[in-house]
Amino acid sequence: MKPAPFTHHRPDSVEEVLTLLDDLEEAELLAGNQSLGIVMANRLATPEHLIDLNGVDELAFIDEDDDAVRVGAMTRHRTIERSDRLEEAVPMLPEAAEQIAGPSVRNQGTIGGSIGEADPAGNYPAALVALEGVLHLRSADGTREVPADEYFIAYMFTDLREEEIIESVSIPTEPFPTDRTGMAFLELKRAAQTWPTVSAATAIRVDDPNADDPVVEDARIALANAADIPLRVEDAEAVLEGEPLSEEALAEASELVTAAVTPEGEMHADREYKEEVAGEYAKRSLETSYERAVTAEQANGA
Ligand SMILES: Cc1cc2nc3c(=O)[nH]c(=O)nc-3n(C[C@H](O)[C@H](O)[C@H](O)COP(=O)(O)OP(=O)(O)OC[C@H]3O[C@@H](n4cnc5c(N)ncnc54)[C@H](O)[C@@H]3O)c2cc1C
Repeated sequence: MKPAPFTHHRPDSVEEVLTLLDDLEEAELLAGNQSLGIVMANRLATPEHLIDLNGVDELAFIDEDDDAVRVGAMTRHRTIERSDRLEEAVPMLPEAAEQIAGPSVRNQGTIGGSIGEADPAGNYPAALVALEGVLHLRSADGTREVPADEYFIAYMFTDLREEEIIESVSIPTEPFPTDRTGMAFLELKRAAQTWPTVSAATAIRVDDPNADDPVVEDARIALANAADIPLRVEDAEAVLEGEPLSEEALAEASELVTAAVTPEGEMHADREYKEEVAGEYAKRSLETSYERAVTAEQANGA
């Protein structure tokens, strides 16, 4: 099938995008076209106007200040995957990016498109929820900031308003200093370029990586494709905090994750299997995070 007829608009500034969004009825934003094109070709979406963001260079950036890193909505998966700055400050993001589909999707797809699509299996949504990321949403009336865990409301339904665009995302860096933090993004995939069955996004900060048994000060766990939104499991985080990582604590956290998730069964993975895998992948991802945290100082050349 082919998409229904539409008018293509190619603005080159955010101001122009917002004016078009205000003026046009039935308009949709177009980013990397890795998801929208398929949806339109199947006529599941029939917008009369497409507002193409590919000429809006000001939306493609990676910035960092003392408190946060900020990534513009039109930053491609490939750029995130290869960013030294992100690798240093929030390594979970490049690790999440490098596991998205194959090179052609990663060359075109954007972080803004992924968050706009809000698929609960998406890599960045889980990473942002785990790291308490913030979405910067802009309309003609100004900008508002929405924490990632408030943005995803229900299955592919978000807090984004019709007149808004996602301008950027920011991730606070203060909770996870690079010299005593480890992060991991771990996916179970049936085949290399498919969507994941389940993914786990985890981070651990320890008190002192040089101690004999470094204590977990802060732990974060979020799952993708394990509920109708990216799911953070705070009670599983809590059992890890205040002591060195132990088999017992990991087992308890894993069980709490399995109990918390509410995945939909799929053709190749029924609900029970996904519940179990969510617990197991959270556990493995946490082990990797801890391992990375206790060697973080060496890795960062301190
Ligand atoms: C074979 C295949 C496998 C994939 N596997 C994975 C995977 O494992 N993990 C994963 O995370 N993703 C996966 N994806 C999805 C991929 O990450 C897409 O690139 C992404 O979901 C959509 O990004 P896009 O830039 O192409 O957006 P588009 O397809 O252009 O747009 C998607 C939606 O977002 C909206 N949108 C775009 N930009 C903005 C903005 N700035 N503000 C507000 N709304 C906006 C659009 O209006 C549209 O509704 C896969 C895709 C394919 C085709």
